[in-house]
Amino acid sequence: MAIGMKRLEVLGWWFNEQAPTELPRPQLLVAPAAPERRAALAAFLRAGVALVRYPEPSFCRFACGEEDMGRADLTDGRFVWPEGLAHYVERHDVRLPDHFVERALAQPLPPFALPKAKFGLYDAGPWIAWGKAQRACPDLGGFEIPTLDVLDRIAEDLGPVPHEAILACRGSTRELILAIAGGGIELHQLKAGGRPPQRFAGWHEWPLCGDAPQRSAPSPMSGKPKPGVPMGEFFARRKQPRDERP
Ligand SMILES: [Zn+2]
Repeated sequence: MAIGMKRLEVLGWWFNEQAPTELPRPQLLVAPAAPERRAALAAFLRAGVALVRYPEPSFCRFACGEEDMGRADLTDGRFVWPEGLAHYVERHDVRLPDHFVERALAQPLPPFALPKAKFGLYDAGPWIAWGKAQRACPDLGGFEIPTLDVLDRIAEDLGPVPHEAILACRGSTRELILAIAGGGIELHQLKAGGRPPQRFAGWHEWPLCGDAPQRSAPSPMSGKPKPGVPMGEFFARRKQPRDERP
């Protein structure tokens, strides 16, 4: 990146269930806004100037059926966002950072020179930091999306464990995130004597950045026996894997 290059602050990059990273989930940013405020914000987002166009259109993370999400990145000279961001604001009441909203609502904007799209132009740091502060980002610290050759090796080590896809891996703990039948995900440790697999009904159950450890994966059987529960029964329940409980 050239020194002194003016970067564009990213907005509206969302978590992708098929390629999980620590980007925010828009479902966790929903907050009803006044209709005129929402309309003004959506109008500002639509008025951005196209900076880059992609071959594939974007898709709505709410799976609402909207297909016209656009395939461009738009900019106002200071921020950059996917064309579909207006849809999230308009249709799903998704919140955006205050410093952007203030700017968007204080129109008109001064004219700007369209920057040249080049490596390092986009700065996603503030967006991710904001998402984490809103507690909207899945905690995926250290996980990576495996490259094709890593995938092959993992699949070999994994053997006959049933899964639909290997979504992410964390080398330091030899943990995998697997997509499993029925839309669930499984945290699987590839290690003899490792922790038993932990299942989640979907990404909505996955711990978030900023959660207290294990807060989102509580075990009702953890801690000391409650008075009134016989010790034998307590430990029998405790041994039962999480995914086999009714
Ligand atoms: Zn939608």
